[in-house]
Amino acid sequence: MNTYQSLVEYCGEHNTTLVAVSKTKPNSAIEELYNQGQRIFGENRVQELVDKAATLPNDISWHMIGHLQTNKVKYITPFVDMIHSGDRTPLLKEINKEAIKSDRKIDVLLQIKIAEEESKHGWDYHQLQDQLSNNLVGKFENINFRGVMGMATFTDNETQVSQEFKSLRLYFDEIKTNYFSETASFDTISMGMSGDYKLAVDAGSNMIRVGSLLFGKRN
Ligand SMILES: *Cc1c(COP(=O)(O)O)cnc(C)c1O
Repeated sequence: MNTYQSLVEYCGEHNTTLVAVSKTKPNSAIEELYNQGQRIFGENRVQELVDKAATLPNDISWHMIGHLQTNKVKYITPFVDMIHSGDRTPLLKEINKEAIKSDRKIDVLLQIKIAEEESKHGWDYHQLQDQLSNNLVGKFENINFRGVMGMATFTDNETQVSQEFKSLRLYFDEIKTNYFSETASFDTISMGMSGDYKLAVDAGSNMIRVGSLLFGKRN
């Protein structure tokens, strides 16, 4: 079994969805996994995502996983399947506006900051709670809120990484209970990458975003 097949098997055993993160990798690398059955691919740059989607098979489900500038939203809303980086109100507003133009409802995750590093994007959880209690969800009819996304601190300290993932799991549970108890499709916890996906799945992840383990190191 190759690395991809083992990972698919692991995901099957753990009811976890695999997003193959193909950023910086050529179409040929994507096709290689596509031919083995992979259909969900994640990218973090708009231009690259648009170019790849235009040239690769139509039945690929494209996920935008990286920080998204408001003025670039319009390039991906016609086709993107899920946006993991819903991390601020003006961005959600723009996604909703462009989704209406495309006559689509777009799956979006609320990216929440769980890492201690300053650089990581995402909602401060308390600010997100404020927005949610202020009817954030009801304002955006063409957004289908699907769950949460987070990235742990880049460290060897597995205890810390585990704790951060567990905190995201708790945030998900709280948001689900308070705002989405009637929404079956609010069901996704996107956390875990090549180096920490097992810790993430142990903490309750059901969507992992794996790049370098599948495609090799990036330059
Ligand atoms: C690059 C990236 C990944 C994948 O990282 P790997 O360590 O290569 O598995 C996952 N999530 C996000 C948001 C990324 O930008």
